[in-house]
Amino acid sequence: MEPASIKRSLESSGLRCTAQRYAVMAFLTDHKGHPTAAEIFKAVNRMDPRSSRATTYNNLRDLVKAGLVREVAVEGRAGRFDLEGMRHHHFICDRCGNVEDMEWYDVPRPVSRSLGKRIVRECQLIFRGFCAKCAQRTSR
Ligand SMILES: [Zn+2]
Ligand SMILES: [Zn+2]
Repeated sequence: MEPASIKRSLESSGLRCTAQRYAVMAFLTDHKGHPTAAEIFKAVNRMDPRSSRATTYNNLRDLVKAGLVREVAVEGRAGRFDLEGMRHHHFICDRCGNVEDMEWYDVPRPVSRSLGKRIVRECQLIFRGFCAKCAQRTSR
């Protein structure tokens, strides 16, 4: 994402474009490998040594709440983050824990009787198994 469009998407989500929020967005733009909050903090802190862990984590929360950043749930491990931008599904490797993007396709809605009064916005899938690297190692 260009600097100007980071600023624009922050402001159109009602968030002030602070140096920290900008740094988090810029880092996620350049690092598509689904970094953890700790990795994001380390990177932001390198750019601006005054930034505290708490502020970075709070900013990350704000960005998730505003729908700009998505937290990929990885049970038993630290949450991983990426930019909402293009919709996609995820693949998580059972062996190395790698989180990879998979091309988006629409998932059929559940039947209304199972939904009850819930309102579903969308459905993201998480595929699990062995990533290409680990699959190769397994078959050898
Ligand atoms: Zn793997
Ligand atoms: Zn992703």
